[in-house]
Amino acid sequence: MSKRITAIRGFNDILPADTPLWRHLEATVAGVLDAYGYQQVRLPIVESTELFKRSIGEVTDIVEKEMYTFEDRNGDSLTLRPEGTAGCVRAGEEHGLLYNQQQRLWYAGPMFRHERPQKGRYRQFHQIGVEAFGMGGPDIDAEMILMTARLWKALGLADAVTLEINSLGTPAARASYRAALVEFLRARVDQLDDDCRRRMDTNPLRVLDTKDERSKAALAGAPSLADYLDEESRAHFERLCALLDDAGVRYVRNPRLVRGLDYYSRTVFEWVTTELGAQGTVCAGGRYDGLVEQLGGKPTPAVGFAMGVERLVLLLAQKGVALAPAVDVYLMASGDAAERRAVVLAEELRNALPRLRLQLNAGGGSFKSQFKRADRSGASIALVLGDDELANGVVGLKMLREDQAQESIPVQQIAGVLDARLPGRK
Ligand code: ATP
Ligand code: MG
Repeated sequence: MSKRITAIRGFNDILPADTPLWRHLEATVAGVLDAYGYQQVRLPIVESTELFKRSIGEVTDIVEKEMYTFEDRNGDSLTLRPEGTAGCVRAGEEHGLLYNQQQRLWYAGPMFRHERPQKGRYRQFHQIGVEAFGMGGPDIDAEMILMTARLWKALGLADAVTLEINSLGTPAARASYRAALVEFLRARVDQLDDDCRRRMDTNPLRVLDTKDERSKAALAGAPSLADYLDEESRAHFERLCALLDDAGVRYVRNPRLVRGLDYYSRTVFEWVTTELGAQGTVCAGGRYDGLVEQLGGKPTPAVGFAMGVERLVLLLAQKGVALAPAVDVYLMASGDAAERRAVVLAEELRNALPRLRLQLNAGGGSFKSQFKRADRSGASIALVLGDDELANGVVGLKMLREDQAQESIPVQQIAGVLDARLPGRK
């Protein structure tokens, strides 16, 4: 026997046991985005490596060590997208969607980062990303946050997540803060881990984002970015907070909140949960007013966020969200004529009840084995068509999840009976 080939570490198969939750999440997100007037874009998974270097920043974890970069056959350096914002800006610019316009866009799909796989952290993972261009005020920041708050409610996750917000100010404000922070860090360098030491020189704000406990402790008393904000950024942030207060959305101001990508400015936010262990951020984003220009466009204010689909699915699974089974009705038939009639009956029932999930037995078998398949399908009702039923113009109906004798229903009435017992399938 030859050696079995398995999936690559960190690349997951999403199997029938999980896809209903994925689809429930995706459909709910799409519904909420529709309700706010956001439009979907579908973008390539592969982009020029340069795009990510110039947007995410050379001295970030992603670009330094997490990208799947390769040369294609022409010798061009390509990268599997580690996030969606850069590609969205690239596409928006390329197709003239951004200049002097407002756009509300979203996308969904796989992202790739070479990280250490663990619960909630994978090498191929999925994000749903949302971006708004051409609006510089706190009103659109608030809209994004309200939209996510509505989504958590729709998913039954409102109690599981909390909102943290912060303002990173302008690049100039950040530069003066950076100097103060570096001075603070230098005095405590022996308490920082290697990663923090390295970042202290290259990207000191990222030290605030450390997950190392000893380094975290050393950060107590570090200067606060809030004290270095420029006046405009401060007013922007206060207005955002006021809008969230008006809407009754609760938040925590976290002056330590920074994001792992360089392009953010002013508002940043994260929705976090304590219910998933270490990988607690399920949705994160912020404003990136400088990015469009940095990628060669005209100055264009922008704000966006991305949700981690795997983490949200884990949360939904943990909450035990009840979803409809894949099959409502299992139609079984035995005998040549009955099997032939069953094919047509199944189509007639699907015509009458377009939302009905009807599985027709295939591959023959005794009624005993067909009942086993019906049970495994998750159906609540089995329909039985044998030679006797056919001769009498009836269909047997057995409620599979109730202790009840099999009934005999005239074939013309079967759609009506199913409609009454399984509401909402018409
Ligand atoms: P983290 O701090 O958890 O590494 P990040 O700051 O790198 O997150 P972003 O780039 O902002 O994350 O991505 C947005 C969201 O995508 C995250 O909040 C998370 O839910 C999800 N995410 C990021 N990286 C991964 C991964 N490797 N596997 C699964 N989900 C991920
Ligand atoms: Mg990360």
